[in-house]
Amino acid sequence: MEEKTCKYCGTTLEKEQELQSGVCSFCQKQKDSITESKRRTVFADLKKFDYFAHEGDFIELTEWTNGEGADLCISEGKNGEKYIPLTYGMLEALVNLAHRLVDIPVYKVGL
Ligand SMILES: [Zn+2]
Repeated sequence: MEEKTCKYCGTTLEKEQELQSGVCSFCQKQKDSITESKRRTVFADLKKFDYFAHEGDFIELTEWTNGEGADLCISEGKNGEKYIPLTYGMLEALVNLAHRLVDIPVYKVGL
């Protein structure tokens, strides 16, 4: 009879459950502890908004896996990328402050 091995580590499988899944109990435990998520991201070419931006600069907001906030990423060419984690409360405050500070037009990206 052909010997079945774990598809991740190659260990010989013996237990009924392992033979059915093709994964050893050790690898299965690791697999169960990993959560995969598709995080929502919004992205904009910074040059369309910022006079001082260079070609390829961008600004991006990526929602946290727990849905409580988002990571703000600003990419400025040779200066690299800046990451600022913001709860949705912080983001709301920031938007309100920005509107108070300057009369920012609301652009609709892609429209
Ligand atoms: Zn394994």
